[in-house]
Formats: sequence, C-alpha cells, structure tokens
Amino acid sequence: MQDLLGLPPLDLARAIRDVAREAWRAEQIVRWIWEHRAASFAEMTDLPRGMREALAEQFVLGLPRVVSRAPAADGAEKFLLELGDGVRIEAVSMVDSKRRPAAEASESAPGTRITVCLSSQAGCAVDCAFCVTGRLGAGRNLTAGEIVGQYLVLAREKGFGPREANVVFMGMGEPLLNVPNVTVALDLLAREVSPKRTTLSTAGIVPGIEALALRPLRPNLAVSLSAADDETRNRLMPVNRTWPLVALFAALKKWPLERGRRITFEWVLIDGVNDDAVTARRLVALAKQLPSKVNLIPLNESPKWLPGLARPSAARIDAFARVLAEASVDVTVRWSKGLQAEAACGQLRGGEEPHKPRPSA
Ligand code: SAH
Ligand code: SF4
Repeated sequence: MQDLLGLPPLDLARAIRDVAREAWRAEQIVRWIWEHRAASFAEMTDLPRGMREALAEQFVLGLPRVVSRAPAADGAEKFLLELGDGVRIEAVSMVDSKRRPAAEASESAPGTRITVCLSSQAGCAVDCAFCVTGRLGAGRNLTAGEIVGQYLVLAREKGFGPREANVVFMGMGEPLLNVPNVTVALDLLAREVSPKRTTLSTAGIVPGIEALALRPLRPNLAVSLSAADDETRNRLMPVNRTWPLVALFAALKKWPLERGRRITFEWVLIDGVNDDAVTARRLVALAKQLPSKVNLIPLNESPKWLPGLARPSAARIDAFARVLAEASVDVTVRWSKGLQAEAACGQLRGGEEPHKPRPSA
C-alpha cells in the first residue's frame, strides 16, 4: 500500500483523487499529518467516515514503530524505530541548552528547544574509522516518508508542535548518498521547520553538495572534516580518496551562503591521531578559507566497535581548541549529548550488531 507520508502535496492530491474528490481534502489530510500529528486515518475526524475507511484500504501513514526509548540524564533520548520491512534505525531527540523566550517554549520542556537528529540510511557505506554506524556497512536508503516519519513519531512521543524543533541530519547514514529522498524530506519538513533551523551533515560527498547547492531551500551545511591533510583523511574517512580536500573545498567555496551564515566543520578528536598543535594549525588554514565555525567532538569511545581509538585528555582538547581560538577561528567543543544512552554521534547502530569490528588502529 502506498505511504502518504513522503509525498509532496501535489503528488498526495493526485494519489487520493479517486477517494477524496474535493481539491481541498488533500490539504486537510496534510494538516492532519503535520499539524495534528495523526498516526491513522481514523483520527482524521472531520473527514466523512466512508472516506476515512476508503483511505485506510488503499493507503498507509508509514510512521515507524517505536521499539524502545532510551533516555539519558542530559535530556537526550534515543528512539529505536522499526520500519515497514522490519529494518531498524535510530533517531535522537535532544534538549538544547540555549534558552529562548518563555513565550515560545514548547509544552514538553518550557524554556527549551528540541533538536531532532534523523537518520537518512540504515547503516553507512562510507566507513569512517571512528564511527560505529560505519561498522554496519551499507544499509538501504530510507524513503522520504521514513525520514519525515522519524520526525513525526518523535513529535508525537515528545509532544512538540510545529516550529518547535530544530532538525539535524546527523543520525545513521550519509544523507548525500541519498539525495533524492533527502531533498523530498527537506521540502516536506520545511512546512514547519525553517531551513535555517535545519542542518545537514555530510562526510564530503562532492556531487551531493553540488546538487544541494542548486536548491532554493537549503539547510545549513555541516562537513565532517576530522583531518586536515589527505593522507590522514584517507585513513580516517575513505571517502577522501574519491573527493580529496582540494575537491571538497572547491565545492564548499561555491556553496551559496546567505549573509551571516557559515559552514560548520565537525572534527572528531582522537587521541594521538588528529589532536596535535600542528594539525590544529592546518585546520586553521582550512577553516579560514571560508566563513566557517568548527565543532570539536571528542571521540565517543567504543572499546568493542572502535578498539584502539581513544578520546584525548581534557587538557589536549583544550590545547587544540585554544590554537583555533587564538587564530580567531570560532570553535566550540561539543560534548555529545546522550552518551549514556549510546545515542551520541557515531554510536547509532539501530540495535544491530555491527559485523566488522575494526582492527586496532
Ligand atoms: N554521515 C554524516 C552524518 C552522520 S555522522 C557525516 O558523517 O557527517 C554525524 C557526526 O558524528 C559526524 O560529524 C561524525 O564525524 C560524528 N561521529 C562519528 N563517529 C563518532 C564518534 N565515535 N565520536 C564522536 N563523533 C562521531
Ligand atoms: Fe557514515 Fe557519517 Fe559514520 Fe562516516 S561518520 S561512517 S559518513 S555516518
């Protein structure tokens, strides 16, 4: 049965034409899905009963099933979700520490804003040396419906309304290896999450960056860098062998940035691998090529899946950050939220047992 969740409004209107003749029914159904967070046609109480039944016979609202929720002390919560074909993925909700005016606050958490971290693939073929999701190997692409379905399920479970959440594509998978579905999902999400409040993180898939650059509705761009020379980056992020730093930066320089906007560079700090002062100065040189800021993410360790890789000491992390700050690079250290719940960056594995533990680095 066809899933209505991932259909752009015009396609949805076309799909339901035989069941719901009046043109405005499509918008009514879209409002039920988005504004009222309906999970079934039965909930759409202002549609005639016969129409609801006819819709349910032909279509589904393919919301992922919540298998389990794992809350962490810092307010982050990891959701293990099951898709229609039994594939399991993860999505995470996080409570932003930045305060905002009480008048805007969501009911679920007064004075705070929620950030929803979505998966774009079940697994990841990119195979970065420091990432547990990469250990799963290539999974399938998620459909647009499965991507927005994560958002809608979390909205229902956490009780946040339209325009109350930020969205980041930083869950499982590489979004720019799934451009057609991710772009439909971005368009659908733009209905209630401004592209300014949406961030897509990529390992540096150059054709994907170029494709996204052409779109009128662009999310903020974050690029996982983690090395400032090709030799190290080839080792840490094999994608660099296809699109080395010079190709990546050529694409980034063409990325249309609105006034005041910047590209975010993410840098997973790994002890003895990419956390020394010489490397920090190389990163300064790269970061200064563009309006940018740098997010340092101290490695989330996993002795089981990432043997041999360790988080640097706080002193080394500070020293690395200081080199950047002293060179006037805007730098923040991001201590991952949801660490306890294994919900942190690079820890998502959809409940799967990764099949290829990394040999010691
Ligand atoms: N595939 C995309 C988006 C998902 S990964 C990308 O790589 O950008 C989201 C972020 O988690 C990336 O910045 C990645 O570098 C980071 N990450 C991966 N493994 C990590 C780990 N073990 N510890 C900390 N951050 C990690
Ligand atoms: Fe894939 Fe991103 Fe993990 Fe690399 S860091 S393996 S691109 S999910």
